[in-house]
Amino acid sequence: MAVTMERIVSLCKRRGFIYQSSEIYGKLNACYDYGPLGVELKRNVKEYWWRSMVYEHENIVGLDAAILMHPRVWEASGHVAGFHDPLVDCKQCKQRFREDEIDPKKWEKRQCPACGTAGSLTEPRQFNLMFKTHMGPVEESASIVYLRPETAQGIYVNYKNVMDSSRLKIPFGIAQIGKAFRNEITPGNFIFRTREFEQMEMQYFVKPGQDEETFEYWKQKRIEYYDKLGIRKEKLRFHQHGPDELAHYAKAAFDIQYEFPIGWKELEGVHNRTDFDLKRHQEYSGKDLTYFDDASRERFTPFIIETSAGVDRTLLTCLVDAYDEEKVENETRVVLRLNPALAPTKAAVFPLVNRDGMPEIAHKITQDLKKEMIVFYDDSGAVGRRYRRQDEAGTPFCITVDSQTLQDDTVTIRERDSMKQNRVPIGGLSAELKKRVGI
Ligand code: ATP
Repeated sequence: MAVTMERIVSLCKRRGFIYQSSEIYGKLNACYDYGPLGVELKRNVKEYWWRSMVYEHENIVGLDAAILMHPRVWEASGHVAGFHDPLVDCKQCKQRFREDEIDPKKWEKRQCPACGTAGSLTEPRQFNLMFKTHMGPVEESASIVYLRPETAQGIYVNYKNVMDSSRLKIPFGIAQIGKAFRNEITPGNFIFRTREFEQMEMQYFVKPGQDEETFEYWKQKRIEYYDKLGIRKEKLRFHQHGPDELAHYAKAAFDIQYEFPIGWKELEGVHNRTDFDLKRHQEYSGKDLTYFDDASRERFTPFIIETSAGVDRTLLTCLVDAYDEEKVENETRVVLRLNPALAPTKAAVFPLVNRDGMPEIAHKITQDLKKEMIVFYDDSGAVGRRYRRQDEAGTPFCITVDSQTLQDDTVTIRERDSMKQNRVPIGGLSAELKKRVGI
């Protein structure tokens, strides 16, 4: 079944994953809020990444840098001078576009992609994507600061601090998850491209000459990561940046792309940033950012291999990839086949009927399980409907208390994907669920 973006958007709103920002005021474009299920899914996405980077590597440590940084950081990084997109206006319908996103055949005729009028597009103007704000009470140019457009720079300017305080030796990595802001000209496609989003970035510092091998290693590691996350292999591919796509700092760059309903699009970038960033920060700050290698008695500026993924875009990928509709007993069942480790709710507990002591037992099970995982109690409507609600929310297991429970203290566990049920003793529930969820 080919999933459309509309279905994802509608499911997200209906089930409380994602809402449009400031909806009651007519919405704020390209900003989104995560509801009760969305916030859990997002936390799980971040946790999964953090584990794979920080907990599973001896030489990768974490960092949480401030969003606001010294304005010179963005001069050194090249963002003030070069973080531009070519903005084009249609004089006829007043819509705005990125010149590099317009079909070249249309661009040749200066034809508007929206209203179709030929000759209506202006020449491109360079538009800086950084949000500006003021620090302190006086709004003057000296007080301008930027909302960071990427988390990477917070890592570069702290690399010496982290290395010295953690006594790390090259090669090592620093991982960070945090908000980034870009005043995108053409945001859209739900949470695919927004103006406020989160990034998960890992910057790996290596000796020059070992950069190419390390780059290959991380390319491989990152594609394996998506496989473990449960994303279908055939929906993922690499896209190598050609000479005209390559950023000013990069020696090599590969995007990991996913086949979204809107086509193949970037999910993550793996970049060989060379020694560009550290050299620039050294030049602009006047501080020595070189590294002395005790073993070889050499001094050098480390090269950086970056893996940069979007939290929101990963979450969208997980939703799109997990979404399924199937016919069950002549009804359509919508099911989110999420990796159980990512699922917002791990289990739902139902009393079959609201009498004979079943709700009390189900409440007790819920309370006990809640100490270890997110569990949801539901006693409203037919049990079949309750299953369907959990299928849509991606809940991997449903536990039902029925009349046999009253006899022998066993309950049924129903599995989301196969809909198969089996009986387990209440006492063994927690261990059984943890085993199946993988936590
Ligand atoms: P594009 O060319 O599509 O604007 P980019 O190449 O500038 O993207 P990077 O700077 O490499 O993107 O950012 C790394 C990751 O951050 C992307 O792979 C994506 O997952 C995420 N990301 C970047 N911009 C946005 C955005 N506006 N909204 C949501 N996620 C984003």
